[in-house]
Amino acid sequence: MRVVSTVAEAREALSSLPRPLGFVPTMGALHAGHLELVRAARAQCAAVAASVFVNPTQFGPLEDFERYPRDDEGDRRKLQECGVDLLFAPGVDAMYPPGFSTTVDVGEIGTRYEGAIRPTHFRGVTTVVSKLINVVQADMLFLGQKDAQQTAVLRKLVRDLDFPVRVEIVPTVREADGLALSSRNVYLSPELRAAAPSLHRALQEMLALLRAGKDARAAREQARRLLDPPAIWDYVDLVDMDTFSPLQQLRAPAFIIGAARFGSTRLLDNLMVAAE
Ligand code: AMP
Repeated sequence: MRVVSTVAEAREALSSLPRPLGFVPTMGALHAGHLELVRAARAQCAAVAASVFVNPTQFGPLEDFERYPRDDEGDRRKLQECGVDLLFAPGVDAMYPPGFSTTVDVGEIGTRYEGAIRPTHFRGVTTVVSKLINVVQADMLFLGQKDAQQTAVLRKLVRDLDFPVRVEIVPTVREADGLALSSRNVYLSPELRAAAPSLHRALQEMLALLRAGKDARAAREQARRLLDPPAIWDYVDLVDMDTFSPLQQLRAPAFIIGAARFGSTRLLDNLMVAAE
């Protein structure tokens, strides 16, 4: 595996990789969920590039950018073991050199749910992913369903700006008790870790209630009660898969989305309701 840290090195190294090329962007602190994206890319592409970049512009001023978990050595080892051909691991200056000022904004979809709670988050994500797509020029972009709204935002970005890349969504990898793997799970105390699977259980209950014919509002009110204390909901809802506008009744394709605070750690989860 070749490791590069500048845009020029990345372009040079990428030009000699066989096609199709798959790309897996990450913020590092890699776990089995990230590696599942790499495996999906390996299965479908002749070469795989990954990036590790903790992107400061997608963190709000009071969020955890400084203390976000970092494990450069472990990340390299894991990516190498999974058969990644090229790792792009730029520093902040390589991605945002002095004078950088352009942003990419997808509009309303980026203002709902996560975007309402983290107003500058998706602008940071879409700006950095636009840069990464331009640098890597991959044929396929692999994203995790775990971050459902991010997948909808990035699919819209690719569509609206005609980026010549196909987006593949990889199902969420979970712990045995249902908790979705996340780099932020390391923040959870034993008490909060024990409460954390209740987020997934609540979403499953909401899906069961919707399938039994309840409307979204009634299903949400029942599901809300299933979150274990001391966790607090930010939101739980049924949304259209593409626009993230709220739905009153179950119809595919949709996501049931939830976000809750476990102490100072926010956890996200979702269930996909695929079209038949
Ligand atoms: P992050 O490093 O958190 O920015 O995540 C990088 C990519 O890995 C994103 O596309 C995430 O959606 C994906 N990802 C994170 N956690 C999981 C998981 N548990 N299962 C599948 N994909 C995941």
